[in-house]
Amino acid sequence: MPSRISITDPSEVAQSWLTTLSNALRSRDTSKAVSLFGRESSWRDLFSLSWDIHSMVGRDAIQKYLEGDGRVGGSKLAFMRLKGVAKFDTWLGQTSIIFAFFNFETKIARGQGILRLAQDPDSDKWLGFTLYTGLEELKGHEEITIAPIKVENTGVISYQQGPETYDDYDPEVLIVGAGQSGLTAAARLDRLNVKTLIIDKEPRAGDSWRNRYDALLLHDPVWVDHLPYLPFPEDWPVLMPRIMIADWFDSYAKALQMNLWTCTTMDYPVFDETTQEWTVTLTRADGSKRIMHPKHLIIATGIVGEAVTPAFKGIDTFKGPIIHSSKFKSGRTFSGKKTIVVGACNSAMDISLDLEQNGSDVTIVQRSSTYVMSMKGAVDIVYGKDKYMTNDLSDMLKFSAPLSVATQAGVAYTAAMKEYDAEMLAGLEKAGYKVDFGYENAGFYLKVLFRGGGYYFDIGCCEAIINGRIKVKQGQEIDHFEEDGIVFADGVKIQADAVVCATGYSGFAPSVRRILGDKVMERVGKVCTVDEDGERKGVWRPSGHPNLWFHVGNIAMSRFYSKHLALQVKAQLHGLHKL
Ligand SMILES: Cc1cc2nc3c(=O)[nH]c(=O)nc-3n(C[C@H](O)[C@H](O)[C@H](O)COP(=O)(O)OP(=O)(O)OC[C@H]3O[C@@H](n4cnc5c(N)ncnc54)[C@H](O)[C@@H]3O)c2cc1C
Repeated sequence: MPSRISITDPSEVAQSWLTTLSNALRSRDTSKAVSLFGRESSWRDLFSLSWDIHSMVGRDAIQKYLEGDGRVGGSKLAFMRLKGVAKFDTWLGQTSIIFAFFNFETKIARGQGILRLAQDPDSDKWLGFTLYTGLEELKGHEEITIAPIKVENTGVISYQQGPETYDDYDPEVLIVGAGQSGLTAAARLDRLNVKTLIIDKEPRAGDSWRNRYDALLLHDPVWVDHLPYLPFPEDWPVLMPRIMIADWFDSYAKALQMNLWTCTTMDYPVFDETTQEWTVTLTRADGSKRIMHPKHLIIATGIVGEAVTPAFKGIDTFKGPIIHSSKFKSGRTFSGKKTIVVGACNSAMDISLDLEQNGSDVTIVQRSSTYVMSMKGAVDIVYGKDKYMTNDLSDMLKFSAPLSVATQAGVAYTAAMKEYDAEMLAGLEKAGYKVDFGYENAGFYLKVLFRGGGYYFDIGCCEAIINGRIKVKQGQEIDHFEEDGIVFADGVKIQADAVVCATGYSGFAPSVRRILGDKVMERVGKVCTVDEDGERKGVWRPSGHPNLWFHVGNIAMSRFYSKHLALQVKAQLHGLHKL
């Protein structure tokens, strides 16, 4: 670290920077505000500059935003005060920085931020390197932390018993889907005192996890998977079996007294421009219909969409079962059989290992290449620090950067993992399984964002491939199926009694179109794709259609963005979004 910074008080520098930015924004002095940022700088804002998400990379982008859309919102962002002390640190072990958390206020809300300052090489001045500002709560509409006690006429003191029944009144918000996205959104809305109902077509909350293959262990360690307000018991396994999380979801909905109607579906919803309300017809488990008029609709039906099995030539001639990975349950059924697993990413690898461990002769078909990281390495390197923080803190750190900055972190993690896993990766290549390191060498970060797959967190399949217990057919397209196997483009035939197709899913847009219909989706346009700022279009933020929201993500994303989604809905219900 250069000696000149040792005499600087980082807290003083950071607070002075924040105060100057606050003042510049208040006086609408855009040039002054922009001059505080370095050449390489970025600002990710979640709903404090405007009612949207903005990622600005570089001074020009910040200036453009502050002079345009952000003029009004930006000038309201004020009272930026350090939270704790600022400290010297490095960015990815390279650039010396000052790092600080801070609080701020807008006219209607309070927020939290993260500031990184880097020293300008020419002037020695500490300039903005990365800035994050995010909405945390609405003034006057803070989360309820203690349930109100009702004193009945009889003098008996009681809490409200059980969920709302909605017998003769409607919820303000209807959520479709009781996976982690629907449950986290409902939990946040309940705390904001918003009348909410969740519906799910399945019999129990968490059925999306319950119905997946038996061998599924979550890829993320337990400490990054807590749901808001109710953490898992401390002695839970680092990698949770799918049934534990499924049952937890069910218990969570009950413990938080959520209003959940299972075995319930919704016809295409209709929006009334005049009343700004939806009309939805729900069909319940007993076949009865119920028409409701919620103000807001949150679609939380999952990001992956429906299972896709390609129409391989001759597929109907195959005599054995052909099962999509979403319908596969256990390797026990295929003991002593020859199996082919088409696909070479997470589901394919988990299922192949399960088949092999149950005595099946397995071949994996890998068409291109896969990013592989050992689960052990991921727990140590990627998620290690998170163990010692609250989820709120680790989420804010994780989601505070625009895509290009987060990608730099992804590249650094990928390089560290490559070194950690060097022996395993070399073994895989030797066994004929091709590995890659993701787009821009950013590992699974960009693969998740742009492809929603293409990676494997190893929990044992790699060792089975390296030792030849699982075979790999690499780099060849399937030419056609025959009654007892698959013939590849190179003319080689592999015998099989059963085939598992881990060939992916239809994706988000087609699946939500099936729920909402063309009319609504025309207004929404593209959704869940990545926009020019590297942000997901239409999810967690205005969707393009009034009073319609999409909530998706892995557990950490669902947990983090559920707060912002609930705040947007609450603000709209109270007309705060117009202020
Ligand atoms: C095999 C597999 C393994 C995964 N492993 C991990 C992992 O380890 N860690 C991780 O963070 N993520 C993992 N994911 C990704 C992601 O976290 C999950 O897909 C997760 O289930 C998404 O949660 P969700 O609530 O958005 O959607 P879902 O869990 O899919 O829940 C959607 C709910 O909506 C309901 N629904 C759907 N359509 C309708 C309708 N028309 N009407 C009423 N209800 C409807 C469904 O029944 C379901 O209950 C995995 C995904 C897969 C496929």
